Amino acid sequence: MHLYAKLLLLCSIVVAFIAVQWSATSFNEESLKGARVLVTGASTGIGEQLAYQYARLGAQLVITARRGNVLEEVVRKCLEMGAQKAVFIPADMASPPDAERVVQYAIEQLGGLDFLVLNHIGPSPFSMWNGDVEHTRWLLQVNFLSYLQMAQKALPTLEKSKGSIVVVSSLLGKMCSPFTLPYAATKFALNGFFGGLQHELAMQKSNVSITICILGLIDTDSAMEKIKGYINMTAYPAHESARHIIEAGASRQPEAFYPWYTFYACLFRDWFPYYRDLAIQNSYTYDT
Ligand code: NAP
Repeated sequence: MHLYAKLLLLCSIVVAFIAVQWSATSFNEESLKGARVLVTGASTGIGEQLAYQYARLGAQLVITARRGNVLEEVVRKCLEMGAQKAVFIPADMASPPDAERVVQYAIEQLGGLDFLVLNHIGPSPFSMWNGDVEHTRWLLQVNFLSYLQMAQKALPTLEKSKGSIVVVSSLLGKMCSPFTLPYAATKFALNGFFGGLQHELAMQKSNVSITICILGLIDTDSAMEKIKGYINMTAYPAHESARHIIEAGASRQPEAFYPWYTFYACLFRDWFPYYRDLAIQNSYTYDT
């Protein structure tokens, strides 16, 4: 590599490192005491961890997912952990009216809303695309359109409370990868939509902040089950990712990255496309 190119690379790494350090703004935990929070996909995985951590910070919670019996147990634990209030509402985000019904319920239960944390995802296979367009259509409703519906319904309330929308997204919505095409398409859609909405809200001098969280591989049961036999890489703890998401939302960061490598992957994504694609394809086990 040419000397100047090397220097440029080095400088970029230093600047990026500093930027990450600055962006990891600390927040005042007290500010979340009594905060009115709606968390979706909270019956398991990262959403469940988000509920517990908001609870420990003394928030008031409404949680949702499809399985009421599991949510009931999460609510019980949240109350034990210190939530000022915790209630649940079962809902299926594949059904468009459910998305708005959940926000309405949360506003009624909590008397408003400070944080709308959009985290749920519908199950999707980890395999080569089999041409199933219907599944992608269904997944777009669950993973993408329901997010828009909930955001639209919550915006007037969030405007009054100077609140925040937190969108849990993925590195797979920033970089193209094999085996998760419908899922990745919904995450690209989320990044595009909420990234654009950040601009529009800023231009309108809105009080509402949007935080888009870019996550790498996290050790939830569903993710571990899916990747088994396909890829061998470190999965980071769900409770730590939840902590990072909560901090980013509370400090109103526009974009947050967890774990650390996701930031660099996005930064250098288009620098060496040939080697990037080679690395991606060789990191999966696949028998033709
Ligand atoms: P997960 O363990 O599969 O949990 C998904 C949640 O969504 C569950 O609470 C599930 O509960 C709910 N859900 C599923 N279908 C639903 C539907 N039709 N309507 C309403 N709720 C539904 O997922 P996760 O691994 O914690 O991931 C959470 C978020 O992190 C997602 O946005 C994901 O894209 C992102 N992320 C995860 C990873 C990772 O490696 N784990 C990596 C990058 C990004 P019910 O079954 O009870 O409905």
